[in-house]
Amino acid sequence: MDEFELIRRYFARSGRDPSIVLGIGDDGAIVRPDPDRELVMVMDTMVEDVHYPAGLDASDIGYRAVAVNLSDIAAMGARPRWMTLALTLAGEDAAWLDGFSRGLFEAADEFSMALIGGDTTRGDQTVITVQICGDVPPSNALRRSGAKPGDDIYVTGSPGDAAAGLALWQGNNLRNEHQRQLLRRFARPVPRVALAGELAPHATAAIDVSDGLFADIEKLLVASGAGGVIEIDDLPLSAALLAVQGRESAIELALAGGDDYEIVFTAQNTRTGDIAELSKRYAVQVTKIGTVTRGNALKCQRAGREIAYRHAGYRHFAGAADD
Ligand code: ADP
Ligand code: MG
Repeated sequence: MDEFELIRRYFARSGRDPSIVLGIGDDGAIVRPDPDRELVMVMDTMVEDVHYPAGLDASDIGYRAVAVNLSDIAAMGARPRWMTLALTLAGEDAAWLDGFSRGLFEAADEFSMALIGGDTTRGDQTVITVQICGDVPPSNALRRSGAKPGDDIYVTGSPGDAAAGLALWQGNNLRNEHQRQLLRRFARPVPRVALAGELAPHATAAIDVSDGLFADIEKLLVASGAGGVIEIDDLPLSAALLAVQGRESAIELALAGGDDYEIVFTAQNTRTGDIAELSKRYAVQVTKIGTVTRGNALKCQRAGREIAYRHAGYRHFAGAADD
């Protein structure tokens, strides 16, 4: 199968989106953006065995490649519009391509987004780059930089699940429903596009959680020139994570485990009701987990006492507070 046949078979689909003047097949795609909106561009690359294990189900890999980009779109408060795909393939595996493209279009369809172009190459290792172009009303994009001392810090969903799920997959430990549920959180992250798209009037800053909750909140605070406190006992730990890992390990994973693709945002405490309403309307768990402070340090607090935390090992330091 040559490159053109591969593109035709797996990636070229006819669509009816009037914003697409010209899709796959020419040297470039042509789109007609909404003149009243700003464009938001995001891109994320996944390298086989670096960002996902090669043996993961191909349709999950395809879904995930789109979902992690949609998470960036969500973190900007944007609406996804068009997508391109750069694919480097080590071999020619029809079953893999079939699964991969199926998962990719599953995610794209879920968010009404078309694939309008890309590039296909041969290499030693599978590398998947997705680029999404989204849009927002002018000046409505969420940024990392607007958090102010006194703001509340919120997170969507339940962080820690994805890292636990990946470890379970790697350990071939998927015997019960809780374990399988955690793997799904890694394989099929749920981008919070709808909820985040409504946050602009309420939130002061936002970021998506890809590297780990603590590290990503730190990035938001650095961009905002502020500090913060995380209330350890307020972390929303899922029943599955607690059942599989126990509380202390669940806390460690929630703070340090990556790949959650949840949204962290900050908002003034006058917005509590609006945020509860959004959480209800979109049926997405939203939890207040801390507060923005003056200074430049992010701290963790438990039962009113500060506890030391370092990315490498929450656990090693947790003991110090228990004396
Ligand atoms: P060129 O010779 O100009 O580099 P290509 O042969 O790479 O063009 O691509 C032909 C068409 O197929 C282009 O419209 C390109 O955007 C599209 N395309 C290539 N690879 C992919 C892919 N993996 N997914 C979607 N579209 C692709
Ligand atoms: Mg060309």
